[in-house]
Amino acid sequence: MPSSNKRCTVLLTFDFDAESSKEARGNTSPTPMSQGQYGARVGLPRVLALLARYDIRATFFVPGVVVERYPELVRQIQANGHELGHHGYTHVSPLKLTYEEERAQLEKGFAAFQNVLSVRPKGYRSPAWDLSNNSIALFKEFGLEYESSLMGDDFRLYRIGNEDGDTGLVEIPISWLLDDFVHFEIVDNGAGLASPAKVYEIWVGEFDGAYEEAGVFCLTMHPQVIGRFPRVRMLEQLIQYMRGHAGVEFMICSEAVAGWRKQNPA
Ligand SMILES: [Zn+2]
Repeated sequence: MPSSNKRCTVLLTFDFDAESSKEARGNTSPTPMSQGQYGARVGLPRVLALLARYDIRATFFVPGVVVERYPELVRQIQANGHELGHHGYTHVSPLKLTYEEERAQLEKGFAAFQNVLSVRPKGYRSPAWDLSNNSIALFKEFGLEYESSLMGDDFRLYRIGNEDGDTGLVEIPISWLLDDFVHFEIVDNGAGLASPAKVYEIWVGEFDGAYEEAGVFCLTMHPQVIGRFPRVRMLEQLIQYMRGHAGVEFMICSEAVAGWRKQNPA
């Protein structure tokens, strides 16, 4: 038997939005608010317990307002060794913001992390999975090292370029397929509320591809979505499946980016 030198980097990422994603859409009545609070009260503790059980470090992208509203929870995320990333201040799409407003969102987000956790995030994920024409220049100005809102690859990190050439920013690509929200929640066209078995099948297929091509497998999840009991159990089964492959390494995003930069010097 030829020995296998396959390997794969797994990035488990969680967007801890609590109420902020509903608030940004103006859904501030009690039920949508309680759905966000469920993520903080139930979903996040379940996710943190799972990660601790498997000794896995993950990356949590958190809006500044959530950092300020739930200081104890984000401190617990930090104390458990996970990475914290910038996710805007109020979870408003950068496309809806002027240059000054987008700049202020970034500034206030960084200030929240500084005040509550004394950390400066190295990475950013857009609350709307989209960037404005000003975003990349602002990321450079604020010294961000990586970004995770684009879909230009599946299993490979890549450099973000613009007309002036290399921006110095590394992209950790995302995909709707690899997001829990569109599978599990009720979305506009009526889809959603999928069984965990269906999502497991989709995610395993993608992982198999990342492993086959010795690439990166990045999942985007939300504590208020993946935190339901059978979904957390499905994630655990997926972790066990991935762990069953030689050469699979779970990482936080900034570590994966640093390793990639070493192998891919500018
Ligand atoms: Zn979000």
